[in-house]
Amino acid sequence: MTVDQFAIPEGYAPFDADSLRAWLAGRDACAGRLGGKPEQWDIAEIGDGNLNYVFIAKGPEGSLCVKQALPYLRMVGESWPLTLRRAHFERMALQVQAKIAPALVPAVLDGDETLCCTVQEDLSDHIIIRKGMVHDARVYPRFAADIAEYMARCLFMTSDLHLPLPRKWELAGDFFGNHNLASITHTIMFNDPYVESANNHWNEPYINGYARRLREDVELRRASNRLKTMFLTEAQALIHCDLHTGSIMVTEDSTKVIDPEFAFCGPMAFDTGKLLGNLLINYFSHSGWEDEPGGRDSYRRWVLDTSKAVWEKFEAGFLALWRDPAVAVGDGYPAVLYADAAGKAELERAQHEYMAKLYRDTLAYAGLFMIRRLVGIAHNIDTKLIEDPRRRARCEGRGLQLGIELLGGPEGFASLDAVAARAEQIEGAEPALTEE
Ligand code: ADP
Ligand code: MG
Repeated sequence: MTVDQFAIPEGYAPFDADSLRAWLAGRDACAGRLGGKPEQWDIAEIGDGNLNYVFIAKGPEGSLCVKQALPYLRMVGESWPLTLRRAHFERMALQVQAKIAPALVPAVLDGDETLCCTVQEDLSDHIIIRKGMVHDARVYPRFAADIAEYMARCLFMTSDLHLPLPRKWELAGDFFGNHNLASITHTIMFNDPYVESANNHWNEPYINGYARRLREDVELRRASNRLKTMFLTEAQALIHCDLHTGSIMVTEDSTKVIDPEFAFCGPMAFDTGKLLGNLLINYFSHSGWEDEPGGRDSYRRWVLDTSKAVWEKFEAGFLALWRDPAVAVGDGYPAVLYADAAGKAELERAQHEYMAKLYRDTLAYAGLFMIRRLVGIAHNIDTKLIEDPRRRARCEGRGLQLGIELLGGPEGFASLDAVAARAEQIEGAEPALTEE
């Protein structure tokens, strides 16, 4: 049965401040949280995202955040229709994750299937970590441990390592309808940068040589398509699928992962790799931001140390869950196969192999992500907002250099130390820019 992805539910309308006020007034949980009378509530649309409306409502006693899907891609306009059903998948993902990692996601307070909205905890005291990392070179001491825990718990607990087969398949089924968004990811991540596409753009002429190489080097196309095949076929765990630094809100002592509207059961390395690629783009952006050469050296170091810590803490956390017999109860590696001495040794070997593959795929996905954010449809503010195009291009070229190496040859990097060392080497050299 095919569902009409673009059907607009009877009764759906985008909110404005007044219609939202009226709706909230009729929802006991929301009205109670805000307190006072509806006319006392202060309501503003603050969404800086590419896709949705985000409203913050403040009342005398409390506040909340309402995210509402629009039937088209906000950053492009009505010419690019987008399923409203994503609001349903986002809310469901937040609810699954809230059971697994409650401190690391915004609490869902309410929601409505017809209006395609989710009411969630107001995180206005947090900021999007990408902004802190770009504009203020701000250090977040808890970030590596928190995001590693989020990934380890959310990925492990929704995989076959924890879930018995029926529950895993039900979970995968719950999210397989989210294919409109997956199709977009599929096109812009795995296809566009490797062919001529109206979606692509880059910093011309400086980046022309890199863009040409991406279109001409068939091995990169092969590497991308390998990752795409995983994306299409490996329902390994419930992945966030948009886990970049624009989807993480932080304070010095709190980390919250927002915006899982792309969620579905897919390869774990997609999440771990997207995050890593995003951190590495940030690493290469600072020469475009520092007041004097070297001015952000210590911050650059923090970004690399954090990238390494994220992977290492993730791996340790994931393995700790796997080694806990009360948690590793899924059908993937069932206790019955691994109880005797030979089985115990075999399980250790299997764990090692599993993590080694996940590590390699993480690097390759990181490379893929860096490439698509430097020559594809949407660029990161990390580089996009650097005013001087040539200065920006030096950051972009370096990011592309490492991205291409990670995508094409992840096996060349034995550890995150090797990735960090190569990043520093690239940072210390001039990228190959096209001057005219
Ligand atoms: P989109 O999917 O449209 O990109 P996001 O979920 O990323 O939307 O949200 C867009 C922006 O709204 C975020 O960058 C953040 O600034 C703000 N925002 C999102 N969720 C919350 C929240 N729970 N509390 C406060 N602000 C939020
Ligand atoms: Mg989004």
